[in-house]
Amino acid sequence: MEKLKYERPIINKINAGVPDKFGMKVRTQIMPKIENHSVKELIKNYGSPVYVISEKIIRDTYKEAYQAFSTRYPKVQFAWSYKTNYLDAVCKIFHDEGSWAEVVSGFEYNKALSNGVSGSKIIFNGPDKSDDDLEQAVLNNSFIHIDHFDELYSLIKISNRLKKTAKVAIRVNMDAGIYPQWDRFGFNYENGEAWNALNRIMLSENLELVGLHTHIGTYIMTASAYGVAAAKLADLAVRVQKKFNHTIKYIDLGGGFASKNTLKGAYLPGKDTCPSFDDYAESMTNALINSEIEPDKLPTLFLETGRALIDDAGYIIGTVLANKRLANGRRSTIIDVGVNLLFTSFWYEHDVLPAQETSQQTEDTTIYGPLCMNIDVIRAAIQFPLLQKDDNFVIPRIGAYNMTQWMQFITLRPNIILLGVDGNVHVIREKETSETFKNAEKMPKHLDKK
Ligand SMILES: *Cc1c(COP(=O)(O)O)cnc(C)c1O
Repeated sequence: MEKLKYERPIINKINAGVPDKFGMKVRTQIMPKIENHSVKELIKNYGSPVYVISEKIIRDTYKEAYQAFSTRYPKVQFAWSYKTNYLDAVCKIFHDEGSWAEVVSGFEYNKALSNGVSGSKIIFNGPDKSDDDLEQAVLNNSFIHIDHFDELYSLIKISNRLKKTAKVAIRVNMDAGIYPQWDRFGFNYENGEAWNALNRIMLSENLELVGLHTHIGTYIMTASAYGVAAAKLADLAVRVQKKFNHTIKYIDLGGGFASKNTLKGAYLPGKDTCPSFDDYAESMTNALINSEIEPDKLPTLFLETGRALIDDAGYIIGTVLANKRLANGRRSTIIDVGVNLLFTSFWYEHDVLPAQETSQQTEDTTIYGPLCMNIDVIRAAIQFPLLQKDDNFVIPRIGAYNMTQWMQFITLRPNIILLGVDGNVHVIREKETSETFKNAEKMPKHLDKK
């Protein structure tokens, strides 16, 4: 008889709700439905994986944020950060709630126009604005937030050539106590560069200085940093008033509020540590109303919040492809959602919730996406129930950045559906097909032999 092959033994800790020295185990949360819609039904109708967006959560979150600011300050205006999620249907919901548009490229600028936003309600940020972009923005009376001196000089040239006044602000970077400090965008406050830029704008014939802008970073866990930033911009506004007798119309404190996601390596869940809209609003508005700005000259407070307004409204749902043991015996589960569709899994510990009843047994598991690359890991280590092939799951809180930073790699992007407040499910972006790619490719004649 042939000698049996050696098989490495695997020892599993059974983890089934029995109290251990850390107390009672937390039960695995399951999520069979999103609002009134069965996850399995959605997958049957729209494919797997599929992104799901809740219109109700977008509207509720926006109202909560607006309320936090408008109860503390007389003039508040949100502008939707297009790059966070620029699906037209999503943008339209924000515009319908009263948001303007905040864009960082010519592509986004034109998207905002085609979504029906008037040019005078578009804030144009970012380091990359072509001369054509600037010209269009000047002609449309958009708010142009100047990023660097080269842009300032281009804009002086363009506005003089057009003989038209451009409405401008500068982006200011500063030490607000957030490190590493984002000093690559805009003009620095502490070294006097911002003040220099303001003086040049005030002295140029066709530039009208209307605002001051900063965006101190993203996922800012310290609400007080916004107070520091607001105080520094208020100081610039006071100096402009004093020297030029010119009133700044708005102060724009950018985006960057944390969402309730948990950062990798964080000790506590994000939903317990993330400041509320009230915390951020309190910090900013305290700084503005307590500044030296005269009460009748208080600027409008602009906000460009992205992440914190949309993260909770997005889900991706999908299917388990397989389970396997790694060489060291560790359990791994392969799902049909990879980092191509869930870019944020590089920095968040996303929850992965089963969409059907599971046993209470869990095992320390690595969850992989379906891509043929080693970095395709959705969760490196998670106490996870034993899902089987073809089981479904929900990954909640993925509305920010995933539908703009996604990668097209070895597979096609799936459907995106909106759970409407009308009770219906709407496809708001159709899944890509081979045609999507074929249409963009061109074959040189000498290779086009059948
Ligand atoms: C990305 C960005 C935002 C939105 O940031 P969030 O962190 O998503 O709130 C706002 N303003 C500017 C200038 C940005 O670049």
